[in-house]
This record gives sequence, C-alpha cells and structure tokens, in this order.
Amino acid sequence: MIEYNYQNTLNYAKEQDHKDPLRDFKEQFHIPISANGEPQLYFCGNSLGLQPKLTKAYLEEELNDWATLGVEGHFEAKNPWMPYHELLTEKMAKIVGAKPIEVVMMNTLTVNLHLMMVSFYRPTSKKFKIIIEKDAFPSDKYAVESQIKAHDYNPEEALILWEPRPGEELCRFEDLEAIMQQHGDEVALLLIGSTNYYTGQSFPIKKITTLGHQYNAKVGIDLAHGAGNIQPNLHDNGPDFAVWCSYKYLNSGPGSVGGCFVHERHANNNSLKRYAGWWGHDKKTRFNMRYDFTPIEGAEGWQLSNPPILSMAAIRASLDVFDLAGFENIREKSVKLTGYLEYLLKDLEGEKIEIITPRNANERGCQLSIKLKNADKSLFDKLMKAGVITDWREPNVIRLAPAPLYNSFEDVYKMVQILKNLLA
Ligand SMILES: *Cc1c(COP(=O)(O)O)cnc(C)c1O
Repeated sequence: MIEYNYQNTLNYAKEQDHKDPLRDFKEQFHIPISANGEPQLYFCGNSLGLQPKLTKAYLEEELNDWATLGVEGHFEAKNPWMPYHELLTEKMAKIVGAKPIEVVMMNTLTVNLHLMMVSFYRPTSKKFKIIIEKDAFPSDKYAVESQIKAHDYNPEEALILWEPRPGEELCRFEDLEAIMQQHGDEVALLLIGSTNYYTGQSFPIKKITTLGHQYNAKVGIDLAHGAGNIQPNLHDNGPDFAVWCSYKYLNSGPGSVGGCFVHERHANNNSLKRYAGWWGHDKKTRFNMRYDFTPIEGAEGWQLSNPPILSMAAIRASLDVFDLAGFENIREKSVKLTGYLEYLLKDLEGEKIEIITPRNANERGCQLSIKLKNADKSLFDKLMKAGVITDWREPNVIRLAPAPLYNSFEDVYKMVQILKNLLA
C-alpha cells in the first residue's frame, strides 16, 4: 500500500487539491449552499449523492422529445426510449466489474432484492437458512424475513446473524467460517452488504462467495454502499447476484432506479424460478403479445416493466461523469482522501471519538464512521449549523463520507477543524 506523507495544515490540503487529477470534477456538481451563504461541506454522498450539472440537460432532452414526439419517442427520440436502459449497461457494468450481460438497471434496490430472492432463495426442509451481517440495513432484514415467511419458515430459526464479537464493532471472516461449519448444510443463501452502511466495513466478496459455494449456498451482495465507492469485481468474485441503488455514490437523484447483477453462469438458465413481466421477454417477440414467456438472456430477463426514462436520463448523466473520470482514478483518490480524513481524525481520537471503520483501505470505501464519547446528537446539529453535512445514526455514530468526485482535501481539512472546535 502507498504511504502518504500527510500533513495537518491547510496549505498541505490545498497543495493536494492542486495536484489532484480529478480536481475539476467538483465544478461539475451543484454543491448546496448553507445558511451562511457558503457552499456546504457535504459529507453525505453515502446517503444522497450530489447532482451533476449535466443531469438537467439530459432530463430536458427527454422532456423535449416527449413534448414534440409523444408516443413516437419510443423509436424516434434522439435516444429512443424502447432500448433506453441499454444505454446505461456498459458504463454501469464497468463500475461494478461485471460483463454487460450480467447487469441491468431496473426497479429499486429492495424490489430487486426480492426478485433475486425469488430466483436464488429456494428453501427446502433441509436447506432453508439465510445469513446476513448483524448491522444489515433494516430494509434488507425486512425483505429477508418476509421471504422466509413467504416460504412458511420461521425467521427465528431460519435467519442467522453474522455478528461482531462482544466488545468489537466489525465482523470477522473467520466467524462467518465458523457459522458455516456449524450450519452450512442448512444454509440456502448468504446475503452480505458490502460496504456495510453503518460501520463502513467492506467485506471480502471473493472469500465470502467461495465459502458460500463450498456449502452449496447461493451468495448475494447488497452493494447499496459499494457501487461507485469500491470495486466489487462482481464477475471475477463470482457471487450469484448483487443489487444496488443509484442515488448514493452514483449521484443519480433521490429514489432513482437501482441496479441488478446476475452472474453469467445463470444467464441462460431458464429453469430458475422468477417473477416475470413483459420487459424481460425476448426483445424480438415482445410486441407479438404472445402468452408464452421467453426471458431475455442475462440480467435483462428479470425486468418487469418498461422503465422510467426520466430517472434513467439522470443515471445516464451520472454514469457519463464516472466514465469521464475513470473509476480507477476515482478509487485511487478516494483511498488517499479518506486516508487524509483518518489521519486528521487521529488527533481527536482517544477521549472524544473512536473511528470504528477498518484502518485498512482495502477493507473500507470512502466512509468513516466515528463513535462519539461524551457527546450526543447536539454535536451533529452543531455541525449542520456550521455548514457541515454529515449523517447521524443512533445511538452515537456520525458517518462521514468524502466523495472523491466532489470533495476536496480542503473540504476534509476544514471539516475536521470545525469538528475539533466543537469537541473542545
Ligand atoms: C440505502 C439502502 C437501501 C435502500 O433501499 P431502497 O429500496 O433503495 O429504498 C437498502 N439497503 C441498503 C443496504 C441500503 O444502504
């Protein structure tokens, strides 16, 4: 790993911004203005990514085509709506390390999670358990429990939590191995959020997948906090499916359409159970309105409805920004920028705060979660007042996510100064 010679000065931060090959990308985003008239120090891209300036033009294009073309827009729009989702596939696939056939943008995250479990959670009386990590996002837990119940099993018996050891915050892989040694024969699905939304821990997707497959379990990855943040290398790492949303690190707007990955090994497996809809039907015969369903090969075959073009236009704008920057460059800056945040926070660590996110850059994305000692939510409110946008999780955690496309070293430096003064 590269060693950076970080320094705790404003000058140093400005120098790093000057040297940053991605420095001009900040200009390509709308940065919200705080009460004091200054641009916010926005560290909340893990919750809602900022708006690229391109987005409006892309949306207007579709609004104009709709206004002037009506239904003809399906074929005659500059970017015809009929195959519009295909415009997103290649760039999205690159960001998650997948082949285009493995990726589709559709629905939203929790919906996609359910669709994937319909296909990949097929419990039997001997093999019906699901493993999730302890601090999984509540929506994932609700989805999993409701699937277990829909198959007439009892979540108390069928749901296993991969938990940190007492007194620890992070999950250890060897504990997952131990769970599998004990329950593996009964486990039907391993569903892990990488990166974990609360602790910021990125789990080893390849090791988890290999472990699951050793016991003949299916493996799904929730990339809500991974997509656009870490490189999950989905194809090579080999999970059966993955799902994500596009409004966090992918900057595609509130509630925008989500993503879904189905590994190539399942691309032509028509014996998989699935919930079907006309948009997943073979494109050649979709409009023949036949009654027998023939799925498109690959992830597209799981589509249900014709997609919301306005949302997809926003995704297209964002993916164009990602493509221009190059995901490898984004990740390289991210490692350095989050490392800088960690370096500055270390000075405050001890009595006042504790960083619970892993120290190893390979085990985290850009987010650092800090646990407050001797402080409460009023600190978060004061940060907000000072124009620093972070995110509060009960009972005592502040999540800080410097997003490499629009956060600078100077942002990080200034934010830690403000935090320091408030803690003093
Ligand atoms: C953000 C997030 C969600 C939100 O799900 P939606 O269906 O997009 O509302 C679900 N799971 C995880 C892990 C998340 O981080």
